[in-house]
Amino acid sequence: MEETLKILVVDDDEENRMVVHSALTKAGVQMELSEIGNGKDAFSALSNTAYDCVFLDDRLPDQDGLTLIQQLRSSEIKVPLVVLTDEEDEQIAVQLIKAGATDCLSNSRISPETLAQVLRNAIRIYRAEMQAALANQQFRESQEQLIRQNQELERQQQQIQMQNFKLLEASQLKSRFLATMSHELRTPMNAIIGFSQMLLRPKFCQLTDQQADMVQRILNNGKHLLMLLNEVLDFSKLEAGQLALKVERFNVSRVINLAVDEMRSTAEAKNISLLVQTDLQNSLVFNDPVRVKQILINLLSNAIKFTDSGEIWVEVKELPANRVAIIVRDTGIGIAPKDFKHIFEAFRQVDQSMTRKYTGTGLGLAIIDSLVRMMNGKIFLESQLGFGSMFRIELPRQIKLPDVATDAQASHLDSGGVFYSVKNPHHSSYQFSKASIGYPKFKL
Ligand code: ADP
Repeated sequence: MEETLKILVVDDDEENRMVVHSALTKAGVQMELSEIGNGKDAFSALSNTAYDCVFLDDRLPDQDGLTLIQQLRSSEIKVPLVVLTDEEDEQIAVQLIKAGATDCLSNSRISPETLAQVLRNAIRIYRAEMQAALANQQFRESQEQLIRQNQELERQQQQIQMQNFKLLEASQLKSRFLATMSHELRTPMNAIIGFSQMLLRPKFCQLTDQQADMVQRILNNGKHLLMLLNEVLDFSKLEAGQLALKVERFNVSRVINLAVDEMRSTAEAKNISLLVQTDLQNSLVFNDPVRVKQILINLLSNAIKFTDSGEIWVEVKELPANRVAIIVRDTGIGIAPKDFKHIFEAFRQVDQSMTRKYTGTGLGLAIIDSLVRMMNGKIFLESQLGFGSMFRIELPRQIKLPDVATDAQASHLDSGGVFYSVKNPHHSSYQFSKASIGYPKFKL
């Protein structure tokens, strides 16, 4: 052993101590050796100083070796203890080791080799035990830490659940508030619209040009407000899962033309041409005509709103697998790719500032998305900033009946979706990248 070992020999017999000393010296052990002649002094020395090994006589004048070992071990004094004994009885050796001795060696067997060997073994065993104890301690500590972390996680999980619950409650309250308010506001709004329409009838009353202009403005603004209220009401119904499709067989080309006619004057007021092309061999579809028209009106009013000059094309065409596509293309401001997924979220607009140029609730596309999903359809968007946008809605010719609407509502989360591609919609052959956007869905 190359290191210098601190060794203590506890024996009242000086001759015995000498034997140990010389045997270790002969074996070439580098050491600093101390000698003590009784148990009391040995206990106090071992309490104050750290030794690498102790050679202990089993019969001391003030107490026997077994009692001293028990005392040392119960005081948590950890040191390799080799008992040197005149006894050859194995039972005694077992007893000593049970009490905490590291090894036992009969005095008759002391030689430089055996003593050095016993010393090395005792130190090795002791160090291995210490390492095992340390590893055990670390294991226990990390286990305790894991338990603490687990408890903390559980606490956080409970907190999140509480917050989720509160959020859900707040969201339900908000939806109820939106539904009630928009419903309540619609009644006076309808009265305003109705009475201004009556006032504009020449048979009913004679207005000056200026008065008629003012009433017309009241009517236009009233209609606009009613449209906004209807959007909020639809949105809250969709959010609460209370909007059911009223499915029937109808002529989709007719509904498309009706919607286009409704929007034509708004487009013309901005000098925008509105072109329609229906290319269907069979115009009959099985869907909700009011909601199909609403989808197109929403797309058209966006196209008109976000186009300053140019054209808007509406196209209806047949698709394989008994599907129908409704396409609205404009030459408007376009949408940047980073905004593609956000614009389908409720209340989200590309320009969210208070000073924004374009008005609106930010609910139109969210409602379209929800309706298209309920119809098991898909939305494709192509757009390029400065060039325009193209929204393409693909719907099954025959959607599921309302009595299986809950299934449709459950499955539309997987089957529906928005697909987009970044390119000029006017140079496209409608080949989409089919990258599905993962944006928050309505809870239906
Ligand atoms: P709103 O039109 O009430 O703002 P929408 O949900 O209909 O709400 O549209 C969300 C946003 O998507 C719009 O505010 C606009 O930024 C963008 N957008 C929708 N349609 C178009 C379009 N045809 N051209 C350019 N931007 C559009």
